[in-house]
Amino acid sequence: MTKMCNINKNLLLDLYFQEISGKEEQKARKHMEQCSKCREYLLTLEQTNQSLHQWQDQSPLPHTLDLIMEKIPEAPPKPASVNLARAAAPFIKIVVSILAVLVVLVFLHNQVTHFSFWETLREWWFVKLFGSFGVTAVLFFLLGTFITLAFSPVLILESQSRKYKYYFS
Ligand SMILES: [Zn+2]
Repeated sequence: MTKMCNINKNLLLDLYFQEISGKEEQKARKHMEQCSKCREYLLTLEQTNQSLHQWQDQSPLPHTLDLIMEKIPEAPPKPASVNLARAAAPFIKIVVSILAVLVVLVFLHNQVTHFSFWETLREWWFVKLFGSFGVTAVLFFLLGTFITLAFSPVLILESQSRKYKYYFS
């Protein structure tokens, strides 16, 4: 005990598990003879190893899962079905907007036909094919409607995702 213990404890581990070379074993044993700390250390190793070997596999109490599940708060129930009015709202908005634009166009018909671009537009094959301003306008807007409706499911999903909640709600 008077001498400071300067041995690498890994050497004692190696000794205990008999993974030590002859030369190092000699060194370790010689040190142990005069170092009670290291003898104690080896004894502790021995005791620990024994209790580990005596350790029995333990199975959890029955109903452990139930006990755990009881402590987990129940998640709020998800809506069973999509709110139809809410899902349809964007489509209704689109249709209303298109109708509004068409109404404005009908009122502005005479004014629009006075614009110079209408003269150019009237010469276009597409307009000639359908003849009148009204039919052409309606066709243009139907085309726009179909394009918009084709994109709307994506837009609705995007707008309802939590990511954009701040912007849309
Ligand atoms: Zn020692």
